[in-house]
Amino acid sequence: MITDVFCKIIKGELKADKVYEDDEFIAIKDINPQAPVHLLIIPVKHFDDIHDMIEKDQSLFGKAMAVADKVAHDAGLSEKGYRLIINEGEHGGKLVPHLHMHILGGKRLGPKIVK
Ligand code: AMP
Repeated sequence: MITDVFCKIIKGELKADKVYEDDEFIAIKDINPQAPVHLLIIPVKHFDDIHDMIEKDQSLFGKAMAVADKVAHDAGLSEKGYRLIINEGEHGGKLVPHLHMHILGGKRLGPKIVK
């Protein structure tokens, strides 16, 4: 794992290309996009992972989905669709130790979600 760059972005210590912001979530453009549209939905409050958020504030998951729906719509992805991904832990390939969700779209993605 690398350092929690998302906390730094939320605190304003690191710049990011922000496409959405409210009191509980931000959405930014991924710095290394894997699709024509690659956005990250990030809770403002730090949670290590899904388990941490479930234990501390399960209601935020519903809100995260509503934010994903809005952000995807605003990015023009609603009609053709998109993929939502959360990487967890070592086997999930998680790099940044701050819960976040990927929105990928803008082209027909490959049929496989596991290589
Ligand atoms: P994950 O494997 O789910 O932890 O993915 C972390 C994602 O964060 C990767 O897709 C990175 O390209 C992205 N990322 C890392 N640092 C930054 C940054 N400073 N701004 C935007 N995206 C970042």
